[in-house]
Amino acid sequence: MKIGVLALQGAFIEHIKVLRSLDVEPVEVRKPEQLRDLDGLIIPGGESTTFGKLAVEYDLIEPIRAMCEQGKPVWGTCAGMIFLAKDVGRAQPLIGVMDVRVKRNAFGRQVDSFEADLDIPALEPRAPFHAIFIRAPFIESVGKGVEVLAKLDNGTIVAARQKNLLATSFHPELTNDARFHRYFLERVKKNG
Ligand code: GLN
Repeated sequence: MKIGVLALQGAFIEHIKVLRSLDVEPVEVRKPEQLRDLDGLIIPGGESTTFGKLAVEYDLIEPIRAMCEQGKPVWGTCAGMIFLAKDVGRAQPLIGVMDVRVKRNAFGRQVDSFEADLDIPALEPRAPFHAIFIRAPFIESVGKGVEVLAKLDNGTIVAARQKNLLATSFHPELTNDARFHRYFLERVKKNG
């Protein structure tokens, strides 16, 4: 199983560490040719406008979009979720494949970052998942075919799946809980 982590900017090292703890040695992706042969890709948190600029410069938008359209599992965390979304309410370069409307910096500024225990029925074993939100986006609305995986107590959508595409507002790579990464690897094994 060959997993890539987009390594242009942001929290890619943390994803790589979790994958290594699960005996997967990922590929750091900075060039289009590094996407070839991948079975899955993680787009980390960071700054989505910076991802956009760099991805345009390095010709990564089209090949990542193609990978999503071919049905390969692709998971975006935080800025990665923004990058995958079709609609973020403003013009910025996006992969733009996931049928969700996302609101950026939806909880406020850096000082409004927070943590919450979520019930995520898709994860095994089922137990609260401690989620870290850092200048996080949330999902305002989902299209047909998008399954909501997690919500805050007030109903705000913070994780979703559309076939092979997975998105989380929060950062599972910043906790010691590898259940979300295992869930993603399972999807890669089943190919979507
Ligand atoms: N606020 C960032 C953005 O809009 C996302 C923050 C994060 O990835 N932790 O892209």
